[in-house]
Amino acid sequence: MTRVIIEKGRAVGVECAKGTRRIVYKAQQEVVLSAGAIATPKLMMLSGLGPAEQIRRQGLTVHADIPGVGQNLQDHTEISLVYQLNGPHSYDKYKKLHWKAAAGLNYALFRNGPASSNLIEGGAFWWGNKDETVPDIQYFMVVGAGIEEGVDAVPGGNGCTVNLGQIRPRSRGEVTLASADPLANPRVAPRYFSDPHDLDAITEGTMAALDIMAQPAIASFVETRHAPAPNLTSRADIRTFCQRTAHAALHPSGTCRMGQDDMAVVDPQLRVRGIEGLRIADASIMPTLISGNPNSVCIMIGERAAEFLRV
Ligand SMILES: Cc1cc2nc3c(=O)[nH]c(=O)nc-3n(C[C@H](O)[C@H](O)[C@H](O)COP(=O)(O)OP(=O)(O)OC[C@H]3O[C@@H](n4cnc5c(N)ncnc54)[C@H](O)[C@@H]3O)c2cc1C
Repeated sequence: MTRVIIEKGRAVGVECAKGTRRIVYKAQQEVVLSAGAIATPKLMMLSGLGPAEQIRRQGLTVHADIPGVGQNLQDHTEISLVYQLNGPHSYDKYKKLHWKAAAGLNYALFRNGPASSNLIEGGAFWWGNKDETVPDIQYFMVVGAGIEEGVDAVPGGNGCTVNLGQIRPRSRGEVTLASADPLANPRVAPRYFSDPHDLDAITEGTMAALDIMAQPAIASFVETRHAPAPNLTSRADIRTFCQRTAHAALHPSGTCRMGQDDMAVVDPQLRVRGIEGLRIADASIMPTLISGNPNSVCIMIGERAAEFLRV
């Protein structure tokens, strides 16, 4: 899909591209945009719905000046602590072919064993900012190392990873239109840690994780700490480590947020403000990113949208 077609203040269909062909689908009732927190604001702006100045700059027609489109981008950041274990205690041993075959056979015959694991077998919540009434740090114990893209494996082969995320970020980024070409990516500026509170909180959360991993019950299985390097011990060292190695949790949201103020993009029934016949149903409508993994909330948003459409 390349844009929503707007006629006389109403969404009347969508335009799609197939190769060089342009295909138009007319809506009988309404159009629902559900392209996610990056692509939805881009499609809105390509359709002439968003900050007027930005749309005009790309030579497009403005159908509704909605300044909040693309603003309020939120995401969780994550830190990965990687440990080398002193034996084959984690799922890393199943990276070897014979163990992999054994795990496959076990699953084929009994539907259990390591191949039935989601690899993240432990979780917890704790405080990075003690002034918060509920925890703002989420922990995951990943029973292996180097499983996720961009996270180190360990030289010894057997490792584990503690992932932790700061789940109520105060930093806000934006998605802006970089081109009128629907195939071009929008400009995404996440601005992680632009509010220093987020880095402070995740540093505290990381200090707590290091403390947990130093307790005898788990430390007896650990050979050495791989990341952060064992010589990084002070709070200042760990803060720098967090700043350098934090990665996106890939939970973008908030870029077409729900509300009733001037910066809101959709109303509480998910209707785009200022345009008839157009709703948004995806992570972009969240005013504030939830304190946890957002997929179930996105499903709920879709189900609510379906209910609103039925009325
Ligand atoms: C690698 C990864 C791992 C994740 N793991 C978890 C997890 O374990 N638990 C959890 O709760 N959340 C997880 N998330 C987050 C979760 O997947 C998202 O929050 C959720 O899927 C967002 O839903 P959405 O409907 O907003 O967007 P999406 O699920 O991204 O759906 C948008 C859809 O629109 C389509 N689209 C985009 N542009 C166009 C266009 N121009 N025309 C037509 N179609 C278009 C896309 O192809 C996509 O199918 C993960 C995300 C990633 C990337």
